[in-house]
Amino acid sequence: MQISTVGVIGAGQMGSGIAHVFALAGFEVVLNDISDEALAEALARIERNMGRQQAKGQVAEADMRAALGRIRTASELSAMADCQLVIESATENEAVKRKIFEGVTPHLSADALLTSNTSSISITRLASATDRPEKFMGFHFMNPVPLMPLVELIRGIATDEDTFATLRDVVERLGKTSASAEDFPAFIVNRILLPMINEAIYTLYEGVGTVEAIDTAMRLGANHPMGPLQLADFIGLDTCLSVMHVLHDGLADTKYRPCPLLVKYVEAGWLGRKTQRGFYDYRGETPVPTR
Ligand code: NAD
Repeated sequence: MQISTVGVIGAGQMGSGIAHVFALAGFEVVLNDISDEALAEALARIERNMGRQQAKGQVAEADMRAALGRIRTASELSAMADCQLVIESATENEAVKRKIFEGVTPHLSADALLTSNTSSISITRLASATDRPEKFMGFHFMNPVPLMPLVELIRGIATDEDTFATLRDVVERLGKTSASAEDFPAFIVNRILLPMINEAIYTLYEGVGTVEAIDTAMRLGANHPMGPLQLADFIGLDTCLSVMHVLHDGLADTKYRPCPLLVKYVEAGWLGRKTQRGFYDYRGETPVPTR
């Protein structure tokens, strides 16, 4: 099937990035959110980020204008009627996502593909809440979407081959690379990345190193572009904790036990960059380690 119009449900940090890359790649985009404020902020963010790409010479002014013209916002799910592909990227909450699928499927054509950008919820279980499990898949973008070249493709138990092949082609049209993951907790990237971050927090908790020592060690000793604690602050400590819970509950192995220090930071509301404090304090000119 030829995909030309794509619906994005949820215009937050990820949904706006997804709309951005699809519009630049020539797709028509319908962007939906329950919050009009989120829609307005998403459009402003997309324009700002594309403007940055244009300033760096990565995108021509005319291409940027054309891409912005291909994005329309809609507060009703009925606006998804002419989409051949819908990407749900709303809040990471299963009840919210199920309600969205219930609301959108009656408006979709029978052969439209439905996907979720969930970081951790079972694709098979989400698919079962739709009228088209064979045309449902996990379509997992990385943050920030315009910069990160990977998209994980996750088949549910019922996903058919055509759906998989179509989405793999879509990833190529975006100029990105796909990796195929089976439907197990946290898929590939987060299954490997989050236990590493959790281990870095244990290393801090046990006093093996300070925040600075741990991040410096992994940047210069393992050639990581960012230290694990700095990365945790960037992802959001609440998100890190929730992925560790998904791994711990889903795989029932004590090696995925969330570090008590991570729990403590989340309980304090120190969630990283978004709350200005996490393993670093971001309220001043330069980030200062909080331990
Ligand atoms: P976010 O909080 O920035 O945005 C979520 C948006 O969904 C909000 O604008 C909210 O108003 C909207 N929303 C809530 N209920 C809705 C509904 N019923 N209909 C339409 N919109 C609704 O969250 P985010 O970081 O963009 O995450 C979105 C999804 O992407 C989640 O499933 C998350 O797990 C996944 N994801 C996040 C990251 C990340 O690093 N943040 C990375 C990959 C995947």
